[in-house]
Amino acid sequence: DLRTSAGTSALPRELTHQVHVGKVAVGGGAPVSVQSMCTTKTTDPVSTLAQIGELAQLGCEIVRVAIPHADALDGFAETCAGSPIPVVADIHFDHKLAIEAARRGASGLRINPGNIGSFDRVDAVIDAAGEAGIPIRIGVNAGSLDKDIDARDDLTQPQKLVQSAVSFVRHFEERGFSDIVLSAKVHDVPSTILTNRELSRVLPHVPLHLGVTEAGTVRQGTVKNVSALSVLLSEGIGDTMRLSLTAPPQEEVPVAWELLQSLGMRRRTPELVSCPTCGRCQVNLIEIANEVERRLQTVSAPISVAVMGCVVNGPGEARGADIGVACGRGTGLLIAGGETLRKVPEERIVDELFEEIHERFE
Ligand code: SF4
Repeated sequence: DLRTSAGTSALPRELTHQVHVGKVAVGGGAPVSVQSMCTTKTTDPVSTLAQIGELAQLGCEIVRVAIPHADALDGFAETCAGSPIPVVADIHFDHKLAIEAARRGASGLRINPGNIGSFDRVDAVIDAAGEAGIPIRIGVNAGSLDKDIDARDDLTQPQKLVQSAVSFVRHFEERGFSDIVLSAKVHDVPSTILTNRELSRVLPHVPLHLGVTEAGTVRQGTVKNVSALSVLLSEGIGDTMRLSLTAPPQEEVPVAWELLQSLGMRRRTPELVSCPTCGRCQVNLIEIANEVERRLQTVSAPISVAVMGCVVNGPGEARGADIGVACGRGTGLLIAGGETLRKVPEERIVDELFEEIHERFE
């Protein structure tokens, strides 16, 4: 139980101020939401909406698009109007783009106040978001820290990120704007953990958006994100997340869900329980497990499916799952709901397993 392991009766994410990004609640104990970002050109709403549709199918709940210049705003309005999930406008440098994005249907803005310029400009963005009734994510990044803070030798990088983020949050709140989500991103795992723990301590009311930025390609990026985020999420820290990978965003969303599912925090898709195989195994278990995983992508019921190599742990795991197979010499014993169904030959294992899944759970 994460609550027990965090040694607290209320998790930090239950104490944050809840904001709404479109229909999605963030903070205040809402389920940790999964975000991603389009790689399409925002000037091309047809491609952007197609990508958003795919991301939403995979479980993306909030999507961000880049607004690098004014031309992108026309496409952005069309994208917001046609998107099945809330769209956040990502803006750097030019505060006028943020103001216009708020007017054209953004469900939220993401800015780094440090690169917007003077506080007059930041205030104009705050006012536009207030008028549109949408939240702002203050996105502080180690790569674009305020120059005065970045130059200080007496602060560690997490301290610089926290100091910068705290000063921005205070400014927003002094202006009477509290629909804030905060992110402070850096590319390394220890700094990500330290920074977000400290933000949760000094700004306990502000929802946090987690992620390791510039984490790398699929394997390294997955490991870095999961290493950092599983620690923080287990401590009750973090209200929404993007698992950044140097890969198509369609790769990010399933990994983010796998993480939430592995931590027992949310469940959306079936869980595969499969053993690593060893010298006792007498079927091609890796092939069977991969095929089961592939076919499970079309199953929406959040069931657990065990695929086990032999009788050592096989029958026990298969009985503990909703349905499973414990393999023997060229055969598999199908088990569902704790009951043994029948023995099937190796080449029929996957087909018969899925016949049972479709009959029982769909
Ligand atoms: Fe080996 Fe059997 Fe355990 Fe799989 S279930 S790892 S085959 S002992």
